[in-house]
Amino acid sequence: MNPSGDDVDVAVIGAGNIGLAVAYYLVRKHGVSRIALVDPRDPMSFTSAQSGENYRNWWPHPVMTAFTDDSIGLMEEIARESGNRIAMTRRGYALATRRDDPADLIEDLYRGYAGQGEKSIRVHKGAGPHSTYRPAFSAAWEDAPEGVDVLCDRALIRRTFPTFAEDVGTVLHIRRAGSISGQQLGQYMLEAVRSAGGRLIRGEVVGIEKVAPFVLSIAAPDAARQVRADRVVNAAGPFFADVARLLGEDLPVRCVYQQKISFEDHEGAVPRNLPFTIDLDGQVLDWTEEERAILAEDPAAARLTQFIAGGIHCRPDGAEGGKWIKLGWAFNEHAGDPHGPEPADDHFPDIVLRAASRLQPALRAYVGRLPRGARHYGGYYTMTKENWPLIGPTATPGAFVAGALSGFGTMAACTTGLICADRIMETDTAPYASRLGLERYRDPAFMAELTGLQSKGVL
Ligand SMILES: Cc1cc2nc3c(=O)[nH]c(=O)nc-3n(C[C@H](O)[C@H](O)[C@H](O)COP(=O)(O)OP(=O)(O)OC[C@H]3O[C@@H](n4cnc5c(N)ncnc54)[C@H](O)[C@@H]3O)c2cc1C
Repeated sequence: MNPSGDDVDVAVIGAGNIGLAVAYYLVRKHGVSRIALVDPRDPMSFTSAQSGENYRNWWPHPVMTAFTDDSIGLMEEIARESGNRIAMTRRGYALATRRDDPADLIEDLYRGYAGQGEKSIRVHKGAGPHSTYRPAFSAAWEDAPEGVDVLCDRALIRRTFPTFAEDVGTVLHIRRAGSISGQQLGQYMLEAVRSAGGRLIRGEVVGIEKVAPFVLSIAAPDAARQVRADRVVNAAGPFFADVARLLGEDLPVRCVYQQKISFEDHEGAVPRNLPFTIDLDGQVLDWTEEERAILAEDPAAARLTQFIAGGIHCRPDGAEGGKWIKLGWAFNEHAGDPHGPEPADDHFPDIVLRAASRLQPALRAYVGRLPRGARHYGGYYTMTKENWPLIGPTATPGAFVAGALSGFGTMAACTTGLICADRIMETDTAPYASRLGLERYRDPAFMAELTGLQSKGVL
């Protein structure tokens, strides 16, 4: 290897959660320190800055369950060694439906926790005050239960979630789930990479000579430069497909814009110890006749008068003594263009509040009256059709991808980084790693299984 300053062992394109995690595990596990992280933006300032920062091991397929479960284990390691600098909490995900016997959801649980279902899933039916169910009073991840509690007893649901609407018939409480500070995770990784000798180079990769050692042409405000690298990793988030094209490759991804709001809950509508709650049921929003007529006339908004699938989520944000809450609903299904202006929709705050107040009626106080200082923001879910990531080698020898992390890149960053680093170093890695790489498209039976899944786990 050439020892000159702009020659490195690995160049990682993109310093979001994913690029940083790849660099971190190259350093931590494999002792590779001649790394360049290249990005025109500040680290962690693009999609990774918009994350809701939630994590869960709840997925409709056992590979995705294992993938996120392993990532949670790696986040726990970092929480332990850093004095919980990444602010990991574990109150779980509470998934609510009005149905009394959601057999399909329970079937999904058994499929997702394959082999572990019998010991992981606890159904609480008519247990009344003697239920063995432990609610999520504490945020501490160390002593939270594992598995899933399925609450089928309406009295138990009322007692545990008094702010939920009375028509809720079942709550699935996923226990290995909660929140972290994705920003702190990224910062922690960046510090480790830098102190091992890795470098951050400001600039946009605009060209790559296709044969290793790769020569990356970098456009920067001060001066253009070149970096030579034995290996290159594409971790460019929403620009994943653009960077792949620099190597003459196509990636089967699209970018879908999703939004969130956060604000100070002065009314105390959301209890501070509430898990991340999701209303699983779809709904037709309750507009007035006049509002409905106005929306129906606008082709871009007419869809808002029709039935929209569930997945509205809400959680308290920050300290228990604080007031901020976050709400989101990833109902957009249309691909957008991350090169263009951000397509934030002015209707979104109203839409998500109306929708969320069906499960938590006290939120209705904010419809049309969002408190001052409220934030409305969004970013792109870069996703494959099956909503699985792409991690591993590409057709170009020495070039790797780590992307298409959709709405789960904060929670899955650690395993993504570890698997990508292992594959770069050609060592043993997670047994399911090939399912997360481009190799899976060579297995039509497996792809048919994924496309046939009723739920793709988009939240
Ligand atoms: C609204 C929203 C809510 C979300 N909520 C959650 C959640 O609760 N939990 C969760 O786990 N995940 C969540 N996610 C998903 C998560 O945020 C993403 O999957 C993750 O941040 C993707 O990280 P990344 O590093 O791939 O992309 P990014 O953070 O976008 O980083 C990519 C970087 O690549 C750089 N780059 C691009 N092109 C080039 C180039 N040519 N040269 C150099 N650099 C380049 C960019 O400047 C950028 O900094 C959410 C996403 C959104 C949008």
